[in-house]
Amino acid sequence: MENRILGLHHITAIAGEAKLNYNFYTNVLGLRLVKKTVNFDDPYTYHFYFGDKVGTPGSILTFFPWEGMQSGRRGTRQVTEIGYSVPQNSLGFWLERFEKHNVIYNKVSEKFSEQYLTFLDPDGLKFELITSKNEDTRLPWETDSVTAEHALKGFHNVSITTNKMEGTAKVLTDIFGYKLQESHVNRHRFVTDAVSTANIVDLVEAPGESVGHVAAGSVHHVAFRVKDEQALMEFRDKVIAAGLQITEKIDRNYFYSLYFREPGGVLFEIATDNPGFSIDESVEELGSGLKLPAQYESHREDISKRLAVLD
Ligand code: ZN
Repeated sequence: MENRILGLHHITAIAGEAKLNYNFYTNVLGLRLVKKTVNFDDPYTYHFYFGDKVGTPGSILTFFPWEGMQSGRRGTRQVTEIGYSVPQNSLGFWLERFEKHNVIYNKVSEKFSEQYLTFLDPDGLKFELITSKNEDTRLPWETDSVTAEHALKGFHNVSITTNKMEGTAKVLTDIFGYKLQESHVNRHRFVTDAVSTANIVDLVEAPGESVGHVAAGSVHHVAFRVKDEQALMEFRDKVIAAGLQITEKIDRNYFYSLYFREPGGVLFEIATDNPGFSIDESVEELGSGLKLPAQYESHREDISKRLAVLD
């Protein structure tokens, strides 16, 4: 069988205050903190991974929170919206919850025959909760206040805003195996049939829009999923054959990665399923310890002291 891109793996964004970010995603949205580690390039700042019980690819949203970070601005050359799949009839619950927690949200609307609710996180990162028209059997993480009948199941889609979509569309179709499924005005929906969830990328073509600024409240990169390192290296060859620059394989402790900038200006990553988040913590304990890569282990005490207290 040919190796394929299996939809989205994770999305990484930038935040301001760590505690505010942690509280919003775990308490208000009810996601699980699957891994608490540090920025490998800046070990005195956190790297949070939020997701389902085990951090299944397609459910993982990660943040680099930087205290005092300036706000970004949405625009072209960016992932501008992150869509989560939620159960049918759950949007009323979320409207009430957002009202109660002073979350900025919009009224429920519809596109591509699916209802969705737009909201912003504390740093202004834009999301949609979407009741998918396709069956989504993924089991969500549950908390006392966000139970399975309402909980976020994982990603539905990402939206990329671009002045001209041709280059990005070519990467999606010719390299990643996505197909253009539907268009509505300037929103073009690309879908892969390799998987049935987290398998959508919307390209929003906005010729007059200015370039966005990536800082707090913006997406830093989006990662697409492959099953293992062999598939990863096959896609590396395909990206090179398309005339694009791509990094060497990078060990991210919980997956192996490659990065390349697609022609529309968004940083794309390709990431493996292996080894996964239970490599250094049991499933029960995921997210409870501060996990440091080997090179920082000898600085653990100093690093722990300088990181914000979360609880
Ligand atoms: Zn990444």
